[in-house]
Amino acid sequence: MPNMNPKKTQVSEQESNIRNKNFNEVILGYTLEEAMNEANRCLNCKSKPCVSGCPVNINIPKFIGYIKEGNIEEAYKTIISSNLLPSICGRVCPQETQCEAKCVRGIKSEPVAIGLLERFVADWYMENKKDNDSYTDIEKNNYKVAIVGSGPSGLVCAGQLAKKGYDVTIFEALHAPGGVLSYGIPEFRLPKYIVDSEINNLRNSGVKIKTNVVIGKTLTIDDLFNKGYKAIYIGIGAGLPKFMGIRGENLIGVYSSNEFLTRINLMKAYKENYDTPIIVPKNVAVIGGGNVAIDASRCAKRLGAQNVYIIYRRSENEMPARIEEVRHAKEEGIKLKVLTNPIEIIGNEHGVVKGIKCVKMSLGEPDETGRRRPIAEPNSEHIIDVDTVIIAIGNAPNKLIYEDLNTIETDDKGCIIVDDNLKTTQNGVYAGGDIVTGAATVILAMSAGKKAAVSIDNYIKSVFA
Ligand SMILES: Cc1cc2nc3c(=O)[nH]c(=O)nc-3n(C[C@H](O)[C@H](O)[C@H](O)COP(=O)(O)OP(=O)(O)OC[C@H]3O[C@@H](n4cnc5c(N)ncnc54)[C@H](O)[C@@H]3O)c2cc1C
Ligand code: SF4
Repeated sequence: MPNMNPKKTQVSEQESNIRNKNFNEVILGYTLEEAMNEANRCLNCKSKPCVSGCPVNINIPKFIGYIKEGNIEEAYKTIISSNLLPSICGRVCPQETQCEAKCVRGIKSEPVAIGLLERFVADWYMENKKDNDSYTDIEKNNYKVAIVGSGPSGLVCAGQLAKKGYDVTIFEALHAPGGVLSYGIPEFRLPKYIVDSEINNLRNSGVKIKTNVVIGKTLTIDDLFNKGYKAIYIGIGAGLPKFMGIRGENLIGVYSSNEFLTRINLMKAYKENYDTPIIVPKNVAVIGGGNVAIDASRCAKRLGAQNVYIIYRRSENEMPARIEEVRHAKEEGIKLKVLTNPIEIIGNEHGVVKGIKCVKMSLGEPDETGRRRPIAEPNSEHIIDVDTVIIAIGNAPNKLIYEDLNTIETDDKGCIIVDDNLKTTQNGVYAGGDIVTGAATVILAMSAGKKAAVSIDNYIKSVFA
């Protein structure tokens, strides 16, 4: 008999007034007993609506069925056949708008906690079995493929091609691989030992990773072809910060979310005895309403800021951030200043931020995005005292790699144009992830990497084999 409890099996979390002072993971994950209990809430529906909600179509009822039996190894094998990074996706995928949004149990009560079950299985495997993974039976071919960018898209493309026997090298601009998984998403949501473990697996499968190489500057696309790479995959993400264009954005104490998060996550500014510390802010305004704004605000709080405000021009209902992340942030003491829009950042005589001038907003008719348009209210100017402003209003593609090339076409937003096989307008060059779609999700970037690997394999076999 299925477990008909209307609520998800509760998962342990660090308490909010403790976790807002440390960078350890917030959600502690299910025990085996809790996972089996939650798995028993699944009805094993014949039509599997949850699978259609998953961008990589994991056979969800099948892996949950194995958990019910306590066979976690088979559950893992089921997931990994569709999703190469389950310990990451179990943590960061927006399940509430994907698989869990389609779950039949969600119609009258809470959906099955598919994300927490995926994470449980992946963590169990990492702890108990991963050391036994072997790549020695891969038959190598002599074809070299270059992957530009080591985010989830590049990592998956590299892993898939290495499994097919290709000689794969990833070129990464930063000093450490992982893309947003390493520099953007904070430790308390995605511990870096998990990202490192996935990257080590890749290295074990023969993939080479060259860091501190900016393609477009250190080496060009032509250089890569001249070095004998038969195909190139561009997975460089959309990491160029956007600014508001208001007065005061050049003051000391104003950060783009990318810079702030990179200093903290990649450069470990929150740890003692690190060479790259950050000035600990007291009063912080984070501008934006997405996941990035929430991550930046929660990092600022953990660094010791007394007041952290999220300034968002629409209402909480319109915030694009995950509901769970907004809840976590509020529990941790982050204050939402919604229906508020900054119009100027104010500095002192030394050019250091001392406040942010805002106006109140109200919501009008829906705009082209379907969300109600924010309208400034007259005579509503007010100043919030802050010493740090973090701008998290979105990122755009960084064109460094192709700005000197006229062979790779881009659209009006600077995203690379590809065909159905993810081929760009230059022969032998493929692209996917955020650089094609604009800022999206980890799972979509991964599925692009997987698809491109199939196209690159077909291309090399048809042209060179
Ligand atoms: C703070 C933050 C939080 C997020 N939270 C979530 C979340 O919870 N869930 C979710 O699904 N998604 C989340 N996202 C979005 C998600 O991380 C991205 O959609 C995803 O990482 C895109 O993957 P990618 O491989 O296309 O690019 P990226 O992850 O951006 O990786 C691109 C890599 O290419 C490198 N690169 C760039 N230019 C060059 C060059 N010229 N030469 C060599 N290397 C280069 C970059 O340094 C980077 O390492 C978040 C994003 C941010 C910024
Ligand atoms: S829709 Fe929900 S209950 Fe049905 S098989 Fe999927 S996870 Fe199980």
